[in-house]
Amino acid sequence: MDETRESLEFDVLFVGGGPANLAGAIHLMNMAQKAGKEIEVCLIEKAESIGSHSLSGAILDPVALQELIPDYLDKGCPIEQPNCSDEFYYLTSTRKFRIPYTPGYMHNSGCHIISLSKFCVWLGEMAEELGVMVFPGFAGTEVLYEAGGDRVIGIRTGDKGIDKDGNKRPVFEPGVDLMAKVTVFGEGPQGSLLREIGKKLGIFEDKMPQVFETAIKEVIEIPESSPFNTSATTVVHSFGYPLGFDTKGGGFLYKMKNNRVSLGFVVGLEYEDPLFEPYQAFLSFKKHPLIADIIKGGKVLQQGAKTLPAGGYYTMPRLALDGAVIVGDSASMLNIQRLKGVHTAMKSGMLAAEAILTALDGENYTAETLGAYEQNVDRSWIKKELYAARNFDQALSQKGVGKFITIGAQYLSGGRGFVDPMEIKKDRLSLRKLENTNLPQTMSPETQDLDGKLYLDKLTGLYLSGTTHEENQPCHLIIPDQNLCVTECFEKYRCPCTRFCPAQVYELEEDPEGSRRLKLNPSNCLHCKTCEIKDPYENIIWTCPEGGGGPKYSIL
Ligand SMILES: Cc1cc2nc3c(=O)[nH]c(=O)nc-3n(C[C@H](O)[C@H](O)[C@H](O)COP(=O)(O)OP(=O)(O)OC[C@H]3O[C@@H](n4cnc5c(N)ncnc54)[C@H](O)[C@@H]3O)c2cc1C
Repeated sequence: MDETRESLEFDVLFVGGGPANLAGAIHLMNMAQKAGKEIEVCLIEKAESIGSHSLSGAILDPVALQELIPDYLDKGCPIEQPNCSDEFYYLTSTRKFRIPYTPGYMHNSGCHIISLSKFCVWLGEMAEELGVMVFPGFAGTEVLYEAGGDRVIGIRTGDKGIDKDGNKRPVFEPGVDLMAKVTVFGEGPQGSLLREIGKKLGIFEDKMPQVFETAIKEVIEIPESSPFNTSATTVVHSFGYPLGFDTKGGGFLYKMKNNRVSLGFVVGLEYEDPLFEPYQAFLSFKKHPLIADIIKGGKVLQQGAKTLPAGGYYTMPRLALDGAVIVGDSASMLNIQRLKGVHTAMKSGMLAAEAILTALDGENYTAETLGAYEQNVDRSWIKKELYAARNFDQALSQKGVGKFITIGAQYLSGGRGFVDPMEIKKDRLSLRKLENTNLPQTMSPETQDLDGKLYLDKLTGLYLSGTTHEENQPCHLIIPDQNLCVTECFEKYRCPCTRFCPAQVYELEEDPEGSRRLKLNPSNCLHCKTCEIKDPYENIIWTCPEGGGGPKYSIL
C-alpha cells in the first residue's frame, strides 16, 4: 500500500464540473491559446463522470453559450427542443387556471430545453479537447492555505479506501494535494468547501443568509401516441396546488426529444409544517389532472433531487479571495425570478476566467487583483438581472395573496418594491413546533397510490437515480448530537429529516419499549444537501463521500 500523498501543481484549478466551471475552463483555454500562452489547467468533479451529478430543469437562455461557443449548434450541442412556448397555470386540487398574462422575465422564447447532464458531458469533452485536465471521481475535501495565512493555495481530495471505522483498507489511496495559483470554487449550491471558507474567511459576513429550494425531478417516457408529442406546448409552469399560497414553490414540465418529458417540483425550504414532505408534494403534483393527462401511460426513466440557491443578489458572498474566486450557484448567481442559473453560472465562470488570465499575466493572485472578477460581474448583465430580482424571493415568502401586490410593485419599480432590501430568514428557522401547529399531515404516503412505473416510492426513485456509494466508508453525514435527534427534535418536530430527505437516508427506528434511534443510510444520498440546510438544529453536516459515489444521472 503506497501511502505517500502526491502533490500536483497547476496554474488554475477548477473545483466542480458544473456549467460555471466548465464554461470558465473553456473560456480560459480559448483566451490563453489566442494569446499564445501555455497554461496548466485542471478540473475535478466528485461524480463518477462529468454530468452524473448535474440535474436541472432545464430551460437554457443561450446568451452566455452564444458568447462562449458561437457555433454551438454546428458543434453538436445537445438540445432537446430549440424553442420554448410558455404556459403558466394556477392549480387547485382538481382544476387549472391558465394565467393570461405572464411578466416578461417568465417568457422563454429564444431559449432551448436541454438536459443539464448531457450538456455538461458535451462541455466537458470540449474542455478536454482544449487541454484542460478533467478528473472526475475526485472530491475536494479540504481547502489548503499558505502556512499560517489566509491565501488559498489549492485543495486536498478525499482519501479513498478507508473503512467505516476509519481504518485503511488494502485498497487505500491517499487523497492528492492539488496546488494552484488560482482555485475556482464552483461546487454548486451549499458547497462543502465553501462552508469551511466561509467560517475561516467570513465571506458571507454582512450578507443576508442564503435560502434554498429543493426539487425532485424525473424524466418520463410518454407513449408515442400521446397528443402531447405533437402539441405546440413545450413549457408548462404551475403554482398553487399542492402547496397553496403560503409555501413557495411550483411545478414544471418541459418537452424533450424522443417522447420524453422533464417533470419536476420545487419547494422553498422555508416551509413551516414539520410534517410536510417534499417528495409527497411532488407526487401530488404529478397526479394533478393537468400533469396526469400528459404523462398517462408513461414510465419514469430517471429520477433525482437537488437544491438550488434562491436568495439572489443580497446573498452573494465575496467573490474574490487571495488565490481563489467563487462562481455560479456557489456564488448565489441563480436568478430565481426566471428559475434560471445555467446562463449566469456560465457567464460568471467566463468573467472569472478573464480576471484569472490577467492575474496570470501579472503573476499576482491577490484578492485585489482577482477582484477584477467582482468588477466584471458588477458591469455585466449578471448584475443587471440579479439586481432586478433582488427582492423577489422575499416577496414570494410573504403569506397569502398580498405577495402578488409586492411582486407587482417590484416589477414596476425595477425590483425595489415597497421595502428594499427585504429581509431574508434562514430556512432552518422556519419550522413550527408541533405543539404550535394544528396543520394536518396533508400528504401522507398512504394517500398516494403508487404503481412502481409512473408513480414511484422513494426507494424505486432512488434506484432510478443510479446512486451507489462504496458501502465500507466512514459516514459522510456528520451528526454531532445523535441524542438530540431522538429527544428534542423528535418531540418538537417528529424528526423532519425522515421526511425532507428525498432519498430515505434518515429513518426513525422505535422498539416496543419506546426507545428510539435514528438510522442512517448514507449510501442512499443524492447529494442534494437538503438535510444540512433544513435541519432545525444545524445538527447535520454534509461532507463529500468518496469521490465517484452518488447519483449517475445521464438525462436529467
Ligand atoms: C430542479 C432544478 C431546475 C432548474 N431549472 C433551471 C432551468 O430551467 N434553467 C436554468 O438556467 N437553470 C435551472 N436551474 C439552476 C441551474 O441548474 C444551476 O443554476 C446551475 O446548474 C449552476 O451551475 P454550477 O456550475 O454553479 O453548479 P452545479 O451545476 O451544481 O455544478 C456543481 C458541480 O460541482 C460538483 N462538486 C460539488 N462539490 C464538489 C467538491 N467538493 N469536489 C468536487 N466536485 C464538487 C458537483 O457534483 C456538481 O457537478 C435549476 C436547478 C434545479 C435544481
